[in-house]
Amino acid sequence: MTELIVATKNKGKAAEFRDMLVPYGFEVKTLLDFQDRMPDIEETGTTFQENAQLKAEEISTLLNKPVIADDSGLAIDYLQGRPGIYSARYAGEPTDDRLNYEKVLNEMKGVTESDRTARFICMLAFAQPGKQTIFIEGTCEGTITTEARGTNGFGYDPIFVPTKYDKTMAELEASEKNELSHRYHALVAFQAWLDKQQR
Ligand code: IMP
Repeated sequence: MTELIVATKNKGKAAEFRDMLVPYGFEVKTLLDFQDRMPDIEETGTTFQENAQLKAEEISTLLNKPVIADDSGLAIDYLQGRPGIYSARYAGEPTDDRLNYEKVLNEMKGVTESDRTARFICMLAFAQPGKQTIFIEGTCEGTITTEARGTNGFGYDPIFVPTKYDKTMAELEASEKNELSHRYHALVAFQAWLDKQQR
């Protein structure tokens, strides 16, 4: 069975990747399986793609194995794509989800409904030794609320309503969110790419 390393230490994310990729014959491992050998990789890129590439390629080179990495965040049209790659630390460090989304709500004060469009973006980079890295993007379109609602999920979930829904991501059940999220869409696209390779 081909070993595939998911470049994350986040158990929730790891479970999502495992569920989607085990049916493709991969033995899925995460950085938690290689803890003592893993340096912290600085996200010094200027785009989601560069950051995902940095993580996937550095770890793939280190372990000489195929590695999939993701970089994700929220892009708001009215804020010219911010918080973007700075989503995790938008309100500074140490990172704090509530301070981050409150900063967004403040910046969006008085902005009309039609100008509150945004999307979550997930960029996957799949690095294999001796091969070109491939990139796959998944998005989830929606709008930014005027106040936070809901307690599920993490990050900007309490202020993001996916298109065609009236609940925020934080008011949806985890199972509902997992079937409409940017990460889910990216993984479905990655599955389609794998299908094409196996044909
Ligand atoms: P990472 O790429 O998973 O580290 O995500 C970067 C940041 O983007 C997170 O810290 C969150 O602030 C935000 N983010 C990414 N995915 C989601 C999501 O599904 N819901 C809410 N916020 C998210």
